[in-house]
Amino acid sequence: MSETKVLLTEKEMPRAWYNILADMPNKPKPPLNPATKEPMVPQDLTPIFPLELIKQEASEERWIEIPDEVMEIYKLWRPSPLCRARRLEKALDTPAKIYYKYEGASPAGSHKLNTAVPQAYYNKKEGIKRLATETGAGQWGVALSQACNFFGMECTVYMVKVSYHQKPYRRSLMHVFGSEVIASPSDRTNSGREILKKDPESLGSLGIAISEAVEDAAGRDDTNYALGSVLNHVLLHQTVIGLEAREQLSKVDNYPDVVIACCGGGSNFGGATFPFAYDKIVKGAKVKLLAVEPSACPTLTRGRFGYDYGDVAGFTPLLSMYTLGTEFMPPGIHAGGLRYHGESPLVSQLVHDGIAEAVAYGQTAVFDSGVLFARCEGIVPAPESSHAIHAAVEEALAAREAGESRTILFNLSGHGLLDLPSYDAYMEGNLVDYPLPEENLKKALEKLPKI
Ligand SMILES: *Cc1c(COP(=O)(O)O)cnc(C)c1O
Repeated sequence: MSETKVLLTEKEMPRAWYNILADMPNKPKPPLNPATKEPMVPQDLTPIFPLELIKQEASEERWIEIPDEVMEIYKLWRPSPLCRARRLEKALDTPAKIYYKYEGASPAGSHKLNTAVPQAYYNKKEGIKRLATETGAGQWGVALSQACNFFGMECTVYMVKVSYHQKPYRRSLMHVFGSEVIASPSDRTNSGREILKKDPESLGSLGIAISEAVEDAAGRDDTNYALGSVLNHVLLHQTVIGLEAREQLSKVDNYPDVVIACCGGGSNFGGATFPFAYDKIVKGAKVKLLAVEPSACPTLTRGRFGYDYGDVAGFTPLLSMYTLGTEFMPPGIHAGGLRYHGESPLVSQLVHDGIAEAVAYGQTAVFDSGVLFARCEGIVPAPESSHAIHAAVEEALAAREAGESRTILFNLSGHGLLDLPSYDAYMEGNLVDYPLPEENLKKALEKLPKI
């Protein structure tokens, strides 16, 4: 009997992150300063980011060494396991081999700690005492709270108000690690007060919370800002996922035909797939890279490719990406981590150039597959991750249809143990799909900045 779990030793962990900017046939257009609309220069970012991360954001070095201090903390949960989903294969009666990389085993319960730790580390090293950030459903806020705690830093998290009230346990976790958690929009910032003046009942959004956190960080010398997805340096740090997975598969003499990950801002997708994108671009490997998004927030499949802001107030640089427009208000689907109007410029460019592809699914089908996975493999997946599971199930069924074996690898970005109310809603038959009407999409896209 061959193995179900493929493990690496600590000695076999990658010692450097893979930077795909070194190898992309077309690099994304540069970020623009929001005020001048000219390409950003490093000084534009020094009020909110440490120099080392600004350097990584634009670096074209293929490998960037992981600092020892970061390696030491990574070892608390890395290398993460690669598992063969044999019981799921059997349930689907498929000749395909299904592997998943399990990032839910991190202390944060998701992949987000892979970048939270180096971000806190570089800030600390450059004398920063406090980080400000935003969080939607709370996964990023938890990860950054843990990372700041490891390095003895303070952390303030602006949490989208609707989640602040609906996801009390992630808020509790942030408190355990010593963070201050503020419901956004708040009266702590000009941008928050501005929104509250117009709409005192505002439930908040990620775009608003980002404005608040950036304003907080820009206003204090001892404070920087940290972002959990979208930016190049974030995806860079996440490549430990794909580097490990590629090594683990090679230990069982295998290589994937398709690599799948869900896509919100693109960080776990980039992390899982970029090492395979390297094989594809540089070595001509035939591997399909598939990003999965919710049909309620279909950035890659129906958004526009162009410049847009990352936040509502327009404080962030203009990024070249697929976007639904900052005014786009995604419906309250249960995969909170996938409700973002924009997308990583790196992932956007790869999809634009046909190196990666994207597909969108409704949440009821996604939960069907998430529950099937839980019942077969014993792990309750995060609703975000279930998007990847559903695509893997579709690929496995296509393999059955075609009567051919293939190797499917997907990233299980997190567990769903703090998302049980969503599972209750599913079990009670209260989940609905929100296909996005063409009209709403058109209206949101009309508001894109003209560059
Ligand atoms: C935040 C999150 C996502 C979405 O973010 P990406 O940057 O697209 O990876 C997906 N899965 C989980 C478990 C998350 O916490």
